[in-house]
Amino acid sequence: MNSELSAIPDVVDLLRDMVTIDTTNPGGNEAGAAQLLADLFVGHGLDAVVDRFDDEHVNVTASASFGDGGPRIVLNSHLDVVPAVGDWTTPAFEPQIRDGRMFGRGSADAKGSLAPMAIALLRLVHSPDADNLRGTVVYTAVGDEEVGSRGARHLLTDLTGVDGAIIGEPTSLRLLSAHKGSVRPVIELTGKSAHAAAPGKGVNAINAAGPLLAALEAYSAELSERVHPLTGCPTATAVLIAGGEAPNAVPASCRITVDRRLVPGETAESALAEIETLLAKFNADNAPVTAAIAECAPSTGGPSQTPDTDPFVLTCRGALEDIGADSTLSGLIVNCDMTHFRAAGIPTVVIGPGALEVMHVPDESIDLDELRRAVDVYEAILRRALTP
Ligand SMILES: [Zn+2]
Repeated sequence: MNSELSAIPDVVDLLRDMVTIDTTNPGGNEAGAAQLLADLFVGHGLDAVVDRFDDEHVNVTASASFGDGGPRIVLNSHLDVVPAVGDWTTPAFEPQIRDGRMFGRGSADAKGSLAPMAIALLRLVHSPDADNLRGTVVYTAVGDEEVGSRGARHLLTDLTGVDGAIIGEPTSLRLLSAHKGSVRPVIELTGKSAHAAAPGKGVNAINAAGPLLAALEAYSAELSERVHPLTGCPTATAVLIAGGEAPNAVPASCRITVDRRLVPGETAESALAEIETLLAKFNADNAPVTAAIAECAPSTGGPSQTPDTDPFVLTCRGALEDIGADSTLSGLIVNCDMTHFRAAGIPTVVIGPGALEVMHVPDESIDLDELRRAVDVYEAILRRALTP
């Protein structure tokens, strides 16, 4: 690669430019952010392709090859951001820097990962020892992660031969190799309607929610004993309730939606089977009310994990040790695009700057020292992966 092309921008400047482009999903300008990245890569002699895969969403892919053969490593995160709702101290898409932090929607989730990934790749391309490296780095910034993961799904339809993928999400630069998933059963309680003036003639489905919620709490307490070493325990919590038909009638129905978080090793089917067992006991104890799973509300999908012994996980841990960083493996309590990469059989880890607590809230921000540190982290992983 020609090192006399453009100068590598400062990661803070690149992040500021990216946050300035409003990529709110739905309705935002993902294409603008994708083009910014494509122009950056092309300016440094890399191939870059902006792929508008539906009316609203785009992916941008850039790749750099080093020598012949070697592993194929993917850097991936997302272009879209969640809406900037709530009370912001400063405009969400006019990034401000104060006290060593940049404030703006996407500053952490996940442009805070996309920017240092891009700079790390450019540093590698321009490094004096680039000729000694072997392999290919594919940089991918995808659309629609926050709503339907359409970008990752589309990307993975023709992304083959991948030896390792790094997903950038705010993890405070902790290395994660597992994440939780979820399933959301909607439980329907069925009683019998009657005039509210004669409640004894009916069977009150709303009253039955009381013992059902108590049973769900007891179930959740049982789940807290099943600790997965990386993601913690599974959970079950009631999230929505609706019931009754009229203000003067004994309610014949009540629906409770349960958010059941799954840890690696569990499946939606195994969790639903446990809830069916709980409901069978509930029905025996609470006749004539009956409870059954009516349907499942949408969720992002199941949990996943890359084995601790996977060579790419070991490469990542070794790279973190190379730069004196914490290489302890951890897990993510929420879902992310890793689920789709694992479904495609790709060894995948998640690591990025920024804290989980600032995601999806007003005044999202990132520590700029951590942002700069992220460039070192991504570069160290790529360097170790591509060193023969
Ligand atoms: Zn994210």
